[in-house]
Amino acid sequence: MTFNSLWESILDVGRDAATGGYRRFAWTTADLTLREWFAGEAQRRGMSVEEDRNGNVWAWWLPANCLGDPTGAFVTGSHLDSVPGGGAFDGPLGIVSAFAAIDLLVTRGVVPRIPVAVVAFSDEEGGRFGVACVGSQLSTGAVRPERALKLRDADGTTLAEALTAAGRDPAHLGPDPELTKRVGVYVELHVEQGRALDLVDKPIAVASAIWPHGRWQFTFCGQANHAGTTRLVDRRDPMLAFAATVRAARDRATTNAAVATFGKLTVTPNGANAIPSRVHAWLDARAADEATLAAMVEAIAADSAGYADDDGVSLSVEVESVSPAVVFPEEPRARIVRALSALGEVPVLPTAAGHDAGVLSEKVPTAMLFVRNPTGVSHSPDEYAEIADCRRGAEALAEVMADWVAR
Ligand SMILES: [Zn+2]
Repeated sequence: MTFNSLWESILDVGRDAATGGYRRFAWTTADLTLREWFAGEAQRRGMSVEEDRNGNVWAWWLPANCLGDPTGAFVTGSHLDSVPGGGAFDGPLGIVSAFAAIDLLVTRGVVPRIPVAVVAFSDEEGGRFGVACVGSQLSTGAVRPERALKLRDADGTTLAEALTAAGRDPAHLGPDPELTKRVGVYVELHVEQGRALDLVDKPIAVASAIWPHGRWQFTFCGQANHAGTTRLVDRRDPMLAFAATVRAARDRATTNAAVATFGKLTVTPNGANAIPSRVHAWLDARAADEATLAAMVEAIAADSAGYADDDGVSLSVEVESVSPAVVFPEEPRARIVRALSALGEVPVLPTAAGHDAGVLSEKVPTAMLFVRNPTGVSHSPDEYAEIADCRRGAEALAEVMADWVAR
């Protein structure tokens, strides 16, 4: 099957006809359709399909002499779910490329000496239940099943209820110590979520690290009052301190060569003719190392406290989540770079986006390949990659796979 036909076979699933954006939330019809598609592609290749206790789906290509449970496998894949209004490439490109890479090996007559698996990790984006990488985090034990099962979507449905509705048993969720035995190496191919490759005019990169990142909640409290009749000097308006904080976050990000974003807020009472009593906002901050990230967030909080003081409003800052830095290990990275030597110099780049490969890196050797994204746009219907680059990505993955499984 050609890369193009494989790619096109899922383009309509979960796509909004008006915006072109994808909504493939975990355990919804779109997700279940993609899981069926995955199983069908696996069966078409003679691979056996297995859903693990946390809803991650595995397709196995086993060497003829493989007896019993596969161990030490070369595993590649990504995720099939999306953010709300997401793009076509984030996640599915890694899965389509994995099947395409297997096809290339079969065409070349490569017979694997070790097990090969394609995996689709469940609920990577957290678009529905608010926590990212739930499938892989449950498997590694980073998220406890009791916490995961209570997560609710916007309609109030819990993950436990969603699993039951999809015919799965929520009682199965939990750590999967078998993972470390089964997976010899995990290599995830992903569309780049930035313009680093475009800026150096290269189609493929290997990941060096994932930046540490986190979310902090800033709550500014003042006094609700009439927008028309309250004298400026009498106001305690929390929006002012918040607005100044947005700018401060940007300035601190600039000086730290980092990123800091306020992308979500709730305003109380949220009336057009009312001075707000409360502004509750989420800071997403990411930096090259943990010390820089901590110092930057501390500086933004200090700036913010100063503005709050000036305006007579109170401020509280609470950490919601922090993901530590992931440095992908020298091996398998060096081996992958060598396997790709025919492509010339392959850039080795960090990313500021989280991935299942980062979660798994605590338990097994992991690595990532990135495919050029000419505009850098991601988590948007405008996310794009040239099909020629996608094919190069699948070929690169095939080189890495062949190098690994034929040794
Ligand atoms: Zn992704």
